[in-house]
Amino acid sequence: MQLQATHARLGSCNRPVDRLTRQRLVVRSSAVSTSIKQPCSVNLENLGRAEGQTFPLNLYGGKKPSFVGKVVSIERLGGRDKERDVSHIVIDTGGVPFVEGQSFGVQPPGTKLNSRGVEVPQHVRLYSIASSRYGDSGDGKTCTLCVVRVIYPDPATGETVHGLCSNYLCDCKPGDELVMSGPAGTALLLNDNPWNKRIVCVSTGTGIAPFRSFWRRIFFDGIDGQAPQPFSDSAMFWLLSGFANTDSVLYGDELKAALEANPKHMRLDIALSLEQQNGQGGPEYVQDRIHEHAQEFLDLMASDDAIFYFCGLKRMYSSVLEMLETMGREHRGMDVPALIAQLKKSHRWHVETA
Ligand SMILES: Cc1cc2nc3c(=O)[nH]c(=O)nc-3n(C[C@H](O)[C@H](O)[C@H](O)COP(=O)(O)OP(=O)(O)OC[C@H]3O[C@@H](n4cnc5c(N)ncnc54)[C@H](O)[C@@H]3O)c2cc1C
Repeated sequence: MQLQATHARLGSCNRPVDRLTRQRLVVRSSAVSTSIKQPCSVNLENLGRAEGQTFPLNLYGGKKPSFVGKVVSIERLGGRDKERDVSHIVIDTGGVPFVEGQSFGVQPPGTKLNSRGVEVPQHVRLYSIASSRYGDSGDGKTCTLCVVRVIYPDPATGETVHGLCSNYLCDCKPGDELVMSGPAGTALLLNDNPWNKRIVCVSTGTGIAPFRSFWRRIFFDGIDGQAPQPFSDSAMFWLLSGFANTDSVLYGDELKAALEANPKHMRLDIALSLEQQNGQGGPEYVQDRIHEHAQEFLDLMASDDAIFYFCGLKRMYSSVLEMLETMGREHRGMDVPALIAQLKKSHRWHVETA
């Protein structure tokens, strides 16, 4: 019953998706070989920003030495097309600590010429960590990255360009060693007690990576394979995610399992721009999903507890901002920019775009 309601949410509104397609939406997409409920073999509940806790930040890299990560496994998660596949890469870090919402840096091999013509090492690229602090191994000794292969035609010459680090990572094999830095970043940190908060996450494509670390932490990765803490009545994790098509939905099986196990505390809205239409007959983007829930979204923004996280391309975030401003005008004459400024001040509005 609950699952049907969930599927109705996935595919409601004016779009040409039949009931069967809606039901397959999450199921067909990439499976990841992680056990869903994970009894973790160590206790890492001491990591965080509260008093008496340890907050790991920039422990390696920069002026400090890097560390070597070893690829444990790599799985293809599909992608928008065959060329731009996405990889789920589990890396043995030897136990470098991190918290949900942080990134690790990877330095691709080789050198380049800097602006003064001097040969220097390739620069470090950042990748959001897609596992909880326990890692997909459950022992705190691994992290997982979710990497899309960057391939695009050079705007000047039309020649195909292969992004250096993303292709290096998507082509790596178990046993390969990576030069890594971090953990980095404080912009997107999951609240220390998400089990009594309303958490709203908005992403496109691999922008879902940090939110996987959130849902693993919130729902699955605990000492006994249960959420590390009990939920308050109002606690909610609401993920609104945009992808191109059904085949490019990332972590669909895990999301379905999370929904089935936590119907009271989880919501999921997925927009598929190449397969669904918005109310105006155009492609359905994640901001259209927000618009479909305008009243509720604005209520959450005006509440005194909901926390918002956005991760994806810069243009996704600017489209979302435009939509929110339109919604504010349509619904209550709300001054959305002022509200967002206030939410930022109270650390309830978090944005990471690339
Ligand atoms: C905080 C943070 C977290 C990130 N997390 C992730 C993540 O979880 N997963 C992930 O896959 N990536 C993530 N990235 C992006 C990642 O860091 C790299 O930028 C990306 O993988 C490209 O690196 P590359 O070495 O493959 O490409 P490069 O060799 O560095 O080439 C990329 C260059 O090509 C340009 N370019 C890219 N696409 C096009 C295009 N279509 N047309 C024209 N020019 C283009 C870019 O502007 C850039 O200058 C994140 C970035 C940041 C800042």
